[in-house]
This record gives sequence, C-alpha cells and structure tokens, in this order.
Amino acid sequence: MRFFLIIVLITIGLGESTPAIHCQNKQHVAHEQLILSRDLLPEQNLYDILYYALDVSINPTSESISGSVTITLKSKGNGLNNIILDAANHLAIENITSPGMLGYSHSDDRLTIEYTNSLYEGEQKEILIHYHGGTGSGVAWEGGIVYSGSQLYSLNCPYGMSDWIPCKDHPSDKANGMDIKVTLPESYVVASNGTRSGIADNGNGTRTHHWIESYPIATYLFNISAASYNETIEYFQYSETDSMPIIYFTTGTVPSGFHYVETALPIFSDLFGMYPFVDEKFAINKVPSNGWAMEHQNNVTTATTSGMTQVHELGHQWFGDKVTTRDWQHGWLNEGFATYSEALYKEATQGVSSYHSYMNQMKWGWDDNNSVFTTDTIGVWDIFDIIIYYKGAWVNHMLRHTMGDSLYFESLREYLDIYSGGNVVTEDLEAVVASHYGSDLSWFFDQWIYGDGHPEYEFLWAGSSSKVKVEVSQQVTGSYPSLFITPLDVRLRGANGSEEIQVVWIDEHITSFLLTIDFHPTSLTLDPNGWVLGYYSGSEVGLLGDINLDNQVNILDIIGTANYILYQSELAEDQLFLTDIDSDNTITIIDIIQIVNIILNNSG
Ligand SMILES: [Zn+2]
Repeated sequence: MRFFLIIVLITIGLGESTPAIHCQNKQHVAHEQLILSRDLLPEQNLYDILYYALDVSINPTSESISGSVTITLKSKGNGLNNIILDAANHLAIENITSPGMLGYSHSDDRLTIEYTNSLYEGEQKEILIHYHGGTGSGVAWEGGIVYSGSQLYSLNCPYGMSDWIPCKDHPSDKANGMDIKVTLPESYVVASNGTRSGIADNGNGTRTHHWIESYPIATYLFNISAASYNETIEYFQYSETDSMPIIYFTTGTVPSGFHYVETALPIFSDLFGMYPFVDEKFAINKVPSNGWAMEHQNNVTTATTSGMTQVHELGHQWFGDKVTTRDWQHGWLNEGFATYSEALYKEATQGVSSYHSYMNQMKWGWDDNNSVFTTDTIGVWDIFDIIIYYKGAWVNHMLRHTMGDSLYFESLREYLDIYSGGNVVTEDLEAVVASHYGSDLSWFFDQWIYGDGHPEYEFLWAGSSSKVKVEVSQQVTGSYPSLFITPLDVRLRGANGSEEIQVVWIDEHITSFLLTIDFHPTSLTLDPNGWVLGYYSGSEVGLLGDINLDNQVNILDIIGTANYILYQSELAEDQLFLTDIDSDNTITIIDIIQIVNIILNNSG
C-alpha cells in the first residue's frame, strides 16, 4: 500500500522524481486509536485455510450484503474440536453447514464452530456459511467496503475482510485460491483478483460477476472494485509467443501514469523473476478518494494517477503478494521492497544517478528512535509507518552495496522462488541472502532492522603520492546498536582527473586504515554515492608528517609530531609549551633530543 497526502511543496516541482510521502500525517491521527487488530488466536494456528468460495449480493443503496462463503480448511494436528473464524458482529449468521458440526456461536467478532468429534491431522472440513448484514464502517482503511457515489470497493488491509466475509483474517494463512461471485445492479462492472470466468445477467436488473483466483492469496489482498468501468487492455509480451493482458478499469480515460507499469513489468521480471501472476493478468482499478493505492493481488486499487505509485504497487506483486509477510511486524518485507522497486525502476529507465538521487530523497522522514521491525501491530497507521517504506528501502540499498549487484539480485530471485505463494519473516530473507553472500549477515539485519538510530562519521585524512592514512570515528544516534558495521566507499581524487574508489570496512568506534594509491590525492570523500545510511564530516590534515600544514615536511613537523605524542600520552600539559622544550626561545636539535628522550623513557 502507499499513501501520499502531504508535503505538497516538495512533490510539486519535483514531480515524479520525488518519492511520495506515505502515512504519518495529521489526517491519520484520528485513526491512531482505532483498534483494527483481530490478531490471530493461538487456536487459529491449528488449521490451514485451503479455499474460499464466495457468492454474495451487494446492495449499494442500503450498503449491505447477503449470500454465502464456503471455506475449506485442513487440521494441522489431532484433537481440534473448534474452528474459530473471524466475522464482524454486524454480520448476521443465518445458518452453517459443515459435516460433523455440533453447533456454532458468534460473539466478539469471532465465529466458533464446534464439532462432535475432534479433527485428526490432515482432516479437511468444508464450512458453508449463509449470512447477511452490513459491510463495515464505509471508511477507507477501516476494513470492509467503501461506497463513493456510483462506485464501491473493498479495502481489507490489514484485517478487514472479516468486516464483510467470515474468514481467517490474517496474512499468515493464504488460501490456495478463491472463487469470487459478486452480484450487483447491472450498471456495475466488477474488477477482482485472478481471471474473469463470466458475467451472468440475472434478468432482474442485476448481474453476477465471476472471477477465479488460482494463485495463493491472503485475505488482505482480496478485492472487488465496482463502477460503470471501461476496460482498456494492453499486453505484456513476455516471450516470443506469449503475452498477458494488462487491464485498466477506469470511468474516464486511462491516466498516463498507469502506463508506467507496461515499462516496469519487463524490468521487474528481469530483476525479480517472471511476473508472479503471468497466467492471469495485471490490472489497475481506479477509485475515487485520493492519495493512496493498494496492492490487491494482480488487481491494484488506486486512488491516484501517479505513475510511481503504480510502479510501487506493481513491485508488491513480487514482494507482498507472491511472497507475503507472515505478520505485520515484518511489514518492511512488503513495503521496503516495493518502495525500493521504485528506485530500481528509476535506475533502469533514467540511469544510475537518478537511482541515487531517488534514494537520497528517502534518507529522512521517519522517527529515528523506532526500528524497522514493527512492535505495535494494532492500528493500521502503526503498522504502515513511514519507516518501513523509506528505511526499509534503504536496507535493500545497503544490502545491495554490501553484497554486490549479482549476489544481491540472485539471492532475491531465490528468496522469491523458495517462498513463492507462502509467508516469510525477516530471518527467512536473511538465511537466503547470507547463503549467497557466503558469510553471516546477522549483524546487518540486527543493526538495521531491529536497531534504531544511525551512525555519524567524522574522519581525518592525510595523503602522499603513494599512501593515504584515514581515521574514521563514529557516533550513533540511537539506543541500539552502539556501533554500526558497514563497508564504506572512500573516493580519492587527484590532479589531472585521477580518481579511485576503495572500499573499507568500518567495524570499530575509531577505525584507521592505510590505503595504497598511485597518485597524489587532493580530496577524499567518504561514501560519495550515498550507499550508507550515515552522515559524514571530515577534513584533510595534510601530507603525512606535515603536521603544521605548510605543505612540506621539515624539522618543525618532527618536533610537532613528537609534541603531539607527548600531549596525547598526557606527558605534557600544553603543546605550545613543549615546542621549545628547553625554553631558550629557539627550537634546536637540543629540543628534539630532549623530546625523544622523554618519549623513550616513558615508553619503557
Ligand atoms: Zn506499499
């Protein structure tokens, strides 16, 4: 999902080059206290959803629903007596049919179905539930269905499918597929997940729209959007002989930004592996409201015409839809990657400097005291905090720099393959990327996902025509970790356009290193391209040994160096006093001898 309702001053003028600002704005504060969580009960972990078959009529005038859902599930162990589903209290359960059912009860937004005999491991149950009632508050991002003029759309993210359909409302349990039948007045065209199976005219002023999703799907990615839509079809030609439809459901002309996805589809298929729902389609359905979009599986719902937002939602088809976070604490695995895919699109279409400037614009804006790992998953705006978008994208950016391009993208493709259709947590990603990297990466995820704050680096350097000495010290702004470990690019430039970038590892509070070069450096810059989420300040201290910075190494430098050592060793109180150690108002060989003797005596 993606929001950008504020920072108008920034987005105007920079236009599509500027990453959108998501969440975190005044308009959302009122929602902060909203309790949306129907977080999974332990008992709900004892069974696995296999399939949902939905057959409902929606009345847009009364904003109500009636019909049925058939849920097929499988017991994960022996001894399960009750199946607990999520179903909002405003849904009236008319009857339930399920083999072996003893009875059912409905309270506290849960529907409990009791069986005469306990289920054995692997036993499947089919539960047919007839119901009617309301479809939620009608407010976007509060779950259920939103009605807006002559349009309506569902918005289940993160826990809102159970506002209009009994289900197990949690991202961790994806159904293997869905059969979707929705009846509406005949003026409506319904866009939904998967492939359209047909539109039946019921002869009573209504039509039934039938879609079938054959890929695994999470409840928060299921969607219907309905309006008097036009359908504009483009094609993604993914091989010499095969193509896939790209469908735009709009009530007017197709916004130009939608067409970005036609360019992005082959780019992302190259980087991440083939578009995950290539046997079905990719669609965008336009809805009223403004400033957000939602990555419904192969059927993105968008309230904005921004091209980069459509690119973001397309990126989610791999990260979020194909491979889905197991719970919202690891939501960055969805949002961080989708946001990073925007930068990758920039790189592929406009070049590497455009990529870096896009990333650089996301190097701020979140609460530095928070971690990317989400600790509060109760409210929707706690889950979808900007940190999982921007810092989540930066985590990818830094991981890519740490691993190198080929290992990074190769490991992403394998991660997407291994967990295709399934769920993940951060440690699943870590295991795959570490195996490609060939070395432990727990320090990386620990500091950037579970830690907070960022490093601030100060450096001093001095160079000659063959060697450069650099000392980098770091301070951290957060509570954990106390030290960030990272590879860091060091760019050296000399006269006549000489330039070289060397990579050093920063793994101490003060790290010193000696670089070998073959030209005389006139400038040194740390992390010139901005690969690390840190801030830098520093300066040249001059030629090696040229401690008084007069561009030549002479007797005064030697005396000064010796004085500096004494001063650092607390053998003297004042550097100025020490220069003329015998206090005869001139610096002579006697001074040097005395200084060296003091150093030698004290070094034991
Ligand atoms: Zn998103």
